[in-house]
Amino acid sequence: MTHCATDMPANPWTTYAVEIVDVEPEILGVATYSLRLTDPSVRSRYRCEPGRFNMLYLPGVGEAAISVSGYTPEWECWLHTVRTAGAVTQSLAALGAGGKLALRGPFGTAWPLQRMLGRDVVFVAGGIGLAPLRPAIEWAIAQRAKLGRLTLLLGARSPKTILYARQLEQWRSRGLHIEVTVDRSDPGWLGRIGVVTLLVDRLRPLDTGNTTLLTCGPDVMMRYTARSALERGMAAENIWVSLERNMQCAVGFCGHCQLGPAFICKDGPVLRYDRMAPFFAAEDL
Ligand SMILES: Cc1cc2nc3c(=O)[nH]c(=O)nc-3n(C[C@H](O)[C@H](O)[C@H](O)COP(=O)(O)OP(=O)(O)OC[C@H]3O[C@@H](n4cnc5c(N)ncnc54)[C@H](O)[C@@H]3O)c2cc1C
Repeated sequence: MTHCATDMPANPWTTYAVEIVDVEPEILGVATYSLRLTDPSVRSRYRCEPGRFNMLYLPGVGEAAISVSGYTPEWECWLHTVRTAGAVTQSLAALGAGGKLALRGPFGTAWPLQRMLGRDVVFVAGGIGLAPLRPAIEWAIAQRAKLGRLTLLLGARSPKTILYARQLEQWRSRGLHIEVTVDRSDPGWLGRIGVVTLLVDRLRPLDTGNTTLLTCGPDVMMRYTARSALERGMAAENIWVSLERNMQCAVGFCGHCQLGPAFICKDGPVLRYDRMAPFFAAEDL
């Protein structure tokens, strides 16, 4: 487990007021919310390492677990990329810029960034699974000199659902090798068609002993990604997954997100694959 340094109060029920400074539409039904903590003293102390998440709280509606998808220093905002699904995320979408809500957090485990130093790194994302990976990718690009080859394999349902499409070009120009595949093409799509796990199969020779793979997306995608990487000779201990489960308390009390021996909210969401592989096929409780 990765423990994260923060000097925030230990009480996990404390909520902090936040303001929506900006809403950036991404793809249909998905937007990135720039959230600024209202209290300057909380703002200066709050840290959220890549991979961790907050519980976004809409008073009178409820809470939803949402991963941090970035940070903008100029606005002092923590970014959350959200798909509108049910009550909480619909209410969030209705608020718009200037809206007020609250958050609890940060919670959960982070991507193993320090363990990536000196190694090749392959990021494998499916759909909105790119959001929790984005801060880890940006960290890796910023630390480029201390890492080996960096690769992003990205799968989307169709070209119109490729998340952060403009940012992909910036990442390419900064040395990230990117391959994108879609399940269904549109007229004009000249890229690959097929599931993202095929990109893992076809990846240029892997330095298997010196590669770390981070993956986030639907469970079935992560399972097949891990299987492909294992068949390519990677060790399970170098494969990290980020799991989503029905989550309510976020601190391991309520048991909603228990999966095998782990509570995804506090032992995850980022977990080493060898730890979770036997339980991976289980559905939500
Ligand atoms: C650790 C963690 C990190 C997460 N990070 C993110 C994130 O970065 N961005 C994000 O958008 N979501 C993220 N989620 C998922 C998010 O917490 C759920 O979508 C949440 O249920 C939304 O709350 P709601 O009240 O709007 O919808 P709910 O009322 O809980 O759900 C309404 C209906 O939509 C369905 N549903 C829920 N989620 C989805 C979905 N993603 N796609 C399609 N149908 C869905 C549910 O099954 C339910 O039937 C994360 C979840 C976890 C556990």
